[in-house]
Amino acid sequence: MTKANQSGRDADPRRTIPLNSQAWRKLRASVLDREPLCRHCAARGITTVATDVDHISGNPSDNSMGNLQSLCHECHSLKTARDHGKKVYLGCDLNGMPLDPSHPWYRPSDAVLASQQAIERQKSRATGGTRPAASPSFNADC
Ligand SMILES: [Zn+2]
Repeated sequence: MTKANQSGRDADPRRTIPLNSQAWRKLRASVLDREPLCRHCAARGITTVATDVDHISGNPSDNSMGNLQSLCHECHSLKTARDHGKKVYLGCDLNGMPLDPSHPWYRPSDAVLASQQAIERQKSRATGGTRPAASPSFNADC
């Protein structure tokens, strides 16, 4: 393949080993043989067979073993999108809960907030406190 007809990730001028070369196939097989499971899935407690080899730093010219990791295709696509500045949605865990901690499902509902306020009012009555809604302001200079 010449540079003129390269496309996609091969088009990155920093890439020193073309994806369709025997050298890359050999290096890829070596990485997948050494680490057969997706590293990102494993970090989340999920066992997934790796299919892709990723340049950890995002620099495709660094083909040292320390810069290469095995990922499943989904994790590799997400990482590549993130590396290129795209917003990435993480999906959900094994229980169906969103991995994004700011997801609306993690915000308390109006019903939960109302019941928490009712509990606070009952505690206030139980302690005999008729606390004012707001503390009176106090200015020592007056
Ligand atoms: Zn994965």
